[in-house]
This record gives sequence, C-alpha cells and structure tokens, in this order.
Amino acid sequence: MLNFPLQRREIHLKTIDSEDLKTKITDWGATLVGFGDVSVGLAPEFRYIPNAIALAVRHPLYRGTYKCGSMTAYSNQYEEVDRVLETVQKKVTTLLKSQGWRTLAIPPDSAKADGSFVSKLYSLFPHKTAATCAGLGWIGKSGLLVNKLYGARLSWATVLTDAPLTTCPTPYTEGKCGSCSRCVNACPVSAIKDENWKRGEKPETFIDVDTCADYMSYTVKVFQKYICGLCVLACPLGGRRKNESC
Ligand code: SF4
Ligand code: SF4
Repeated sequence: MLNFPLQRREIHLKTIDSEDLKTKITDWGATLVGFGDVSVGLAPEFRYIPNAIALAVRHPLYRGTYKCGSMTAYSNQYEEVDRVLETVQKKVTTLLKSQGWRTLAIPPDSAKADGSFVSKLYSLFPHKTAATCAGLGWIGKSGLLVNKLYGARLSWATVLTDAPLTTCPTPYTEGKCGSCSRCVNACPVSAIKDENWKRGEKPETFIDVDTCADYMSYTVKVFQKYICGLCVLACPLGGRRKNESC
C-alpha cells in the first residue's frame, strides 16, 4: 500500500474562490479545467484528498498523423502538449500548497512509462474519473475520454486536493455518443464494440483492449512507434472549428 502524509501543515488556510481559480488556470494555459467530487469509489490511499482538479490541453489539429503505404496512424502523445500541461499542473499545486491545502499531482499519460513514483498511481486514479466527475467529458465508445468540443484530442492531468472547491453538480455518468459509430467503423481490427459507456462499467464492456494492443504492437513494424489512434482521428467532435488555426 502507498503511504501519504496525513498531517496538514500548520499554516493559515485561505478560502478558495473556485471561479477565480479556474480563470487563473485557464490563463496559465489549460484549454479545459473542472472540479469534481471523486470521493465515491476513491481508493483508501486518496480519501484525504476527495476533490479532483481535471486539467486538459488540446492537441494541434492535423499534427501527429503518420502515413506509410495504405496505413495511417495518429499519435496523440505530444510531448510539447504534455509539458504545457505539467507546467500548469505545477502552478496549481504550488498555489494550493501555499494556501495550506494538500495536493497530489497525477501527471499526463506520457509520464506512465518513466517508472517514476507517480507512474504507479495511474492504476489507482485515472484521469477519466476526474474529468467525468468534473463534467468535462464522457468515456466514448472508443474507451477514450471525449469532450463535446475537442473530442479525444486532449491531453489530461489531475490534481487531487482537500481544498474546498465548488465541484461540478452534473458529472457525466453515461456516454453521450448516441448513435454515432464513426470510431467503431474506423477501427481496423473491430476492437470497438459500439456500446455506450455507463459509470462503473469496465473498459472491456465497450472495447477489446487486447485486440487494440495487439494491433498497436503490429504498427511498430511499420511506423517504429506503438501507435494507431484512428479512433481519435475519426471522432467528429474533435474536428476543426470555425476561426480556429492549427
Ligand atoms: S487505437 Fe486503433 S486499434 Fe485501438 S481501438 Fe482505436 S482504432 Fe482500434
Ligand atoms: S467517434 Fe462517435 S462514437 Fe466514437 S467516441 Fe467520438 S462521438 Fe463517440
């Protein structure tokens, strides 16, 4: 079991203006920010920090697409995007700690593979939980976090905290993909099952993760990268918006 400090530092705790904090975080570079109450179902290790700050930075459109012969792939693991996200996340934790609140930063997914201490936390607290509880998106049929404006073209990070934030009163508890099945049809190995997500369901309910992983292993031979991402590219919610440059 992981052990975390249970004692708050003996400094004055300031009140929090949640809307002011959101404005600050957006000014620091986040595309999306939301606060969610994640106390239900939280692993025992995290129960002293029941609020989640979900942070996202969008990916530039049309970058990250790879082509080789008849094969196409899309990588949403942009290091530059994740570095922006980490910088924003650091500012959030620094501010909250300076006010006496406890925080735990779970960085973007690209940090998963580095073997660091925080990389061990992903299995205990996924960004998807923070984002759905914060009302920023739902889990699409593709198994990816989907936002109504940006689709799945976002990188996510989370800060867990005991700061008394005003959390979203309308978290997502089910998918909003409706009858769309573009990602289902785009998947080259039929790994996506065309099922709408409901909170509490395991990923296996709507996606065959082994088949997806096997296909991505195959792409290494073609692209020298472990990627596919065609379900991200196919999502109509992540397309170009009016007046947007890329
Ligand atoms: S990443 Fe590729 S193989 Fe995996 S579910 Fe998406 S489209 Fe299918
Ligand atoms: S492509 Fe359609 S079904 Fe798939 S995640 Fe996006 S909205 Fe949902």
